[in-house]
Amino acid sequence: MSEKLVRARTALLDSEPGGSEVRPIEVVTAAVIEPRARGVRCPRCDEPFELVEHTAHAGESGRLRRARLKCRSCGTERSLWFRLSAPS
Ligand SMILES: [Zn+2]
Repeated sequence: MSEKLVRARTALLDSEPGGSEVRPIEVVTAAVIEPRARGVRCPRCDEPFELVEHTAHAGESGRLRRARLKCRSCGTERSLWFRLSAPS
């Protein structure tokens, strides 16, 4: 895969929900973090990422969770961001 395509795919992931701290995925329970994280594919290999860990993160916009993802094939790492919102 060309570097140009990898960069384009990476930029797409960055702009999607969860791709950055300012655009977290809203969830009501941390239990859905793992399945959501496993749905993200490496922009370089098109393989599902492995979830390394997810950690609590105090952000300006509330209780954030940062999932650290790593590609088993190429070692690319990404973060996927979530915000825990209380069920209404
Ligand atoms: Zn990869």
